[in-house]
Formats: sequence, structure tokens, C-alpha cells
Amino acid sequence: MDKYIKVQKIGEGSFGKAILVKAKENGKQYVIKEINISKMSNKEREESRREVAVLANMKHPNIVLYRESFEEGGCLYIVMDYCEGGDLFKKINAQKGVLFSEDQVVDWFVQICLALKHVHDRKILHRDIKSQNIFLTKDGTIQLGDFGIARVLNSTVELARTCIGTPYYLSPEICENKPYNNKSDIWALGCVLYEMCTLKHAFEAGNMKNLVLKIISGSFPPVSTHYSYELRSLISQLFKRNPRDRPSVNSILEKNFIIKRIEKFLPPQLIAEEFSHKVLQKFGPDASPVKRPAQGQHLASAAPAQKITKPAAKYGVPLIIKKPGDGAKKYYEKPLLKCRQARPSPVKKGKPGEERRKMFEEAAKKKRLEIFEKEKRQRDQISFMKVEQMRRLEKERMDRINRAREQGWRNVLSTGGSGETKMQQQRENIKVAEGKEAGLREKQSPEHVDRRLPPGVHPGVPNGPEGHHHSPDADAIRKRVKRLEEVSRQANANRLDCGCVGLSRVLV
Ligand code: ADP
Ligand code: MG
Repeated sequence: MDKYIKVQKIGEGSFGKAILVKAKENGKQYVIKEINISKMSNKEREESRREVAVLANMKHPNIVLYRESFEEGGCLYIVMDYCEGGDLFKKINAQKGVLFSEDQVVDWFVQICLALKHVHDRKILHRDIKSQNIFLTKDGTIQLGDFGIARVLNSTVELARTCIGTPYYLSPEICENKPYNNKSDIWALGCVLYEMCTLKHAFEAGNMKNLVLKIISGSFPPVSTHYSYELRSLISQLFKRNPRDRPSVNSILEKNFIIKRIEKFLPPQLIAEEFSHKVLQKFGPDASPVKRPAQGQHLASAAPAQKITKPAAKYGVPLIIKKPGDGAKKYYEKPLLKCRQARPSPVKKGKPGEERRKMFEEAAKKKRLEIFEKEKRQRDQISFMKVEQMRRLEKERMDRINRAREQGWRNVLSTGGSGETKMQQQRENIKVAEGKEAGLREKQSPEHVDRRLPPGVHPGVPNGPEGHHHSPDADAIRKRVKRLEEVSRQANANRLDCGCVGLSRVLV
């Protein structure tokens, strides 16, 4: 920390503080995130360090740049660029109900997608996409921030953070106790797009229970016809209940009204690096993309079908006709008989030795071709199997990670089991992670305050009619909601009711 001078604290999440600092070295301003890791297990601490190392490698014009990280006094510090333009949440609030132009919305959205593509292409999930984590630089460029911070946290703190702070971006699958996946990020992306178009949250309610029911039902107020059909239709696609039905970030970027704006934000060289030719083809004749085969594509099928006139060209190896007696012998010795039987065509008269030699050579050539073909088929098959195996292993790995990460959700949302013990444990964890926060409420920025619940109302207090949703699994959902409310209540109690940022839109 001695390399930096503290300017001011700019925020406090459940994970720790965000501090604006000035580097002694160059006088530049940075933001430092302080995360208390002293109460984490050794394994969790190691994990956090690894995650931070991953973050440090993310370099993209639309991602807040991570400068460095270090540990001091039981805290992990992550240093990143300071975005002087503030966050999108503040920008939206500052509109005071005046809608943004479609141009503005799509320009911002494209940049968010480019950032998310960079992250997802590296098999990393953001896990905390929200307008408060999308920043504007001095020149108006959008930068996605705080990605991976969620991964640095343990799942209980992460859960509490979601329950207390900003639950609007929860996806139906998370409400239904299913694992977080890339499409959960896409859901949150939909929430941000909706927010940019309407200046409101898509899913709002006065308490956690009703919010979860709304999210699960997937119904949201329509977007103004001020915006084009394609933009409104994209929002509906992002809000598909089934994660599989939501488009990936790559397919969003392929949409015509999106793709044509990419060149505005990324230099051609970076476009070439970031995109496979499949997407780049649509940039027009001037683009000179680096062509990459699609990930995991079968090597053999990647080659275009073409008429082969020269076998050597086809197999990529010179076909030297070996003389009888050398290494080729083993190929032709046996099949020669077959070959002779199979080719009853009259042999021209000449020197019998010469004819015989020619015949040997022809047979050997044919056999070599057959063997080359067979070997190539085998090689292709092996690489295909390897690719498949790698894909399967990667999927299993991601499933394992997701399962582990969602453990906190399962503890809270599962309807049976040792609920009380787990809740006690979570209370302890939340206390530890947020122990320093008491009394901070009044220091929060006005924007935060104006979106907080009024006194006496918090996500844990149900105030709506019960049982008016008649889905087949309504009971299970109700039980899960109860759990969520319970955690939320406990967390709030620990925080002295200081963390309900974000719920005031419910009430305005
Ligand atoms: P959260 O994301 O949970 O709201 P943070 O601690 O990440 O809390 O952020 C707290 C405040 O600091 C927010 O108002 C956010 O806009 C601001 N902030 C965070 N990171 C940056 C950054 N890199 N540049 C500018 N402002 C930032
Ligand atoms: Mg943040």
C-alpha cells in the first residue's frame, strides 16, 4: 500500500472496500479493492490468488484494467484503473426518466458484449454483471469491471452479497437452485440492456419472495416502441427462462444490427484476434481476419472438399516410387498377386524384365496410396477423439467448479437437510466478511441511499399475497424463497440494515 496515497473510500461492498488512490510513482489515480482473506481457509486463499492471477491477464479495451495485486495484513488488494466517467447505474439515474437514444443504447451494449465475449471465450464467467459494475472512462468508452471478484469470494459471502445488495440480476436457474453458467451472465446482460432502455429494472418487487416469483415467471413490463423491433426482440431472447434458449454472447455479436458497430469500438487487428472467421466474414471485404478453425472442430472436416488431382497434394507428402528391393518391398510383396489377378489387362509386349518391374512399381504405388489413406483416416479419428475427450473433460471441470461455487446456494435453497447448522455457519461467515461494516450506512453515496428500502422494509419481509402463482413446483419455490429470505434477514441483521442498496426502485 505504501506505493499509493489514499484519496477517498468510494464504496463498500460486502466483500470489502473500494478505495480511490493516487500512485506515488506517476500521480495517476487507481481504484483498489480490499478483500479480507484472513478468515478464509488456506485452500480458499490459494483459490483467490489464482483467480486474481487470471484477472491480471485480462486485457481488453472494454474491460477495466487490473494493474496489480498484493497482500498485506490479512487483506488481498487488487489495483485497477479508475474510470472517471462513473458507472452506468449513475448514468441511468441521471436521466431522470428521459430515455436514451437507440444509438446510445446499442453502442454501449456492443461494448459490454465485446467485453463479455473476451471473458466467456476464456471460459471465465463474470457472475456479477450489473449496471454498477459497468463503467465509463473519461472519453465515454464502456468498461466492464469487477469480473472475477465474485470468484475471489467464497460462495456464502457471494450469496449474501446478492441477497442484500443487488438481487435484480438473479436468473431463473439460480432462483431454482441450479448451477450458474455462462447463460446466467447472459440473463444479467439482458437485465442491463433492459435497464438502459427503460431506466428501470426488468424484475422488481417489494420483497425477495415476490422478486424470485417474478423472475421465475419471466414476465416483465414491455419496452417502449421508441426502440426498434430488433432491439426489443433481443431483450426477449436474453430473458428466455431456459438458459439453453438464450443466445451466447458470440451469437448476439453476430446479429446484424450489432455486428456492424463492432468496427467502431475495436481496431481491425484486435477484431481479427478476438473473432473467428465465421463472425468476421460479415465485416465486409476490407477486413483481413486471421482465420482460425472453430474450437473443437474435427480436423478432417475442417478441410474443404476439393477435387484431388495429385495424390501427393492430397496427402501432403511426396510419393516417391521406391524400387523393388528397397523399403517399399514389404508393401507390395504380398498384394502383388492380388494385384495381378485384379488387373487382367493385357501387358504390352516388351522386355519381360522391364514389364515386370513396371508392374511391381505400379502395384507398390497403389498399395502405398492405400496405406497413406488408411493412416490418415486413423490419424483424423484419433485427433477427433482427442478433441472430444478434451471437450468432455473441460465440461466436467466446469460442472465441478459450478457445483462447488453454487454450494452456498444449495445450502440455502435446499428444502431438507441440516438447515439450521448451515445457516449458523453462514451467519458466522457473513459476520466475518462484513464485520467492519456497522455504522457505514450513513456514509454511503446519495445514489445508493435513494435506492435503499425504506425503514422497516427489507428483502426478508414478505408483504405480498401468497400463493397466487400456481406452477407445479410452487411449493418447492416457496420453500427456497423462505430460505433466501432467512439468509437475507440474517445478513441484514448483521449489517445493521446497511446493505439494502438497490431495492429502492422497487418502491419508487
Ligand atoms: P459494488 O460493485 O458491490 O456496488 P464496489 O465496491 O465494486 O461495489 O464499488 C463501489 C463504488 O465504487 C461504486 O459506486 C462503483 O461505481 C465505484 N467503483 C468501483 N470500481 C471502480 C472503478 N474502477 N472506477 C471508478 N469507480 C469504481
Ligand atoms: Mg463493483
